[in-house]
Amino acid sequence: MNHDEIEELISADRLEACVEEMGREITRDFADAELHVIGVLKGSFVFMADLLREIDLEASTDFLGLSSYGNSRKSSGVVRMDQDLTMPIEGKDVLIVEDIVDTGLTMSYLLDNLRTRKPASMHVCTLLTKPSNMEADIPIDYQGFEVPDRFVIGYGLDYAEYYRNLPYIGALTSQETADAQ
Ligand code: 5GP
Repeated sequence: MNHDEIEELISADRLEACVEEMGREITRDFADAELHVIGVLKGSFVFMADLLREIDLEASTDFLGLSSYGNSRKSSGVVRMDQDLTMPIEGKDVLIVEDIVDTGLTMSYLLDNLRTRKPASMHVCTLLTKPSNMEADIPIDYQGFEVPDRFVIGYGLDYAEYYRNLPYIGALTSQETADAQ
């Protein structure tokens, strides 16, 4: 991977410290709950794996797959469920784990969808938010970092399915230069 074309925005060390802190908070907040952690694929899989190991509770887990972008870097505004949950959530204390809330349209769709399945409670945990793009009013309970209005990659986030294995969050400078021309 050519790291020269990537501007680091959030280092691996900062990510690690943030995930540890979030795990501590969730462990404390859900101590008496029936915690069911739902990761939103694909982008959340790295964050979800690290966060889960910082949660010192008996927690069940599941995943669902959503896509709103295709292979483009601009939101299509259309959310599609590519993969549904494998088990019911009725009566469970659901924690949704997302990589990034950008416009909020994806999370808004997801909350509406899951609410119909009658969980006991629902909370939202996202590693990143892009406050300047927010269109929907999303209740975010746990939030790692705010990022500027740039297309970010790494730590599970992709550009056309690449860069998910980057250990830090960065922005692709070569693409931004190309877009500006
Ligand atoms: P929203 O519906 O909030 O606009 O977008 C949510 C989804 O879009 C995220 O789950 C993520 O998959 C994708 N997304 C939004 N912004 C970015 C970004 O800067 N980088 C990447 N890789 N994905 C993004």
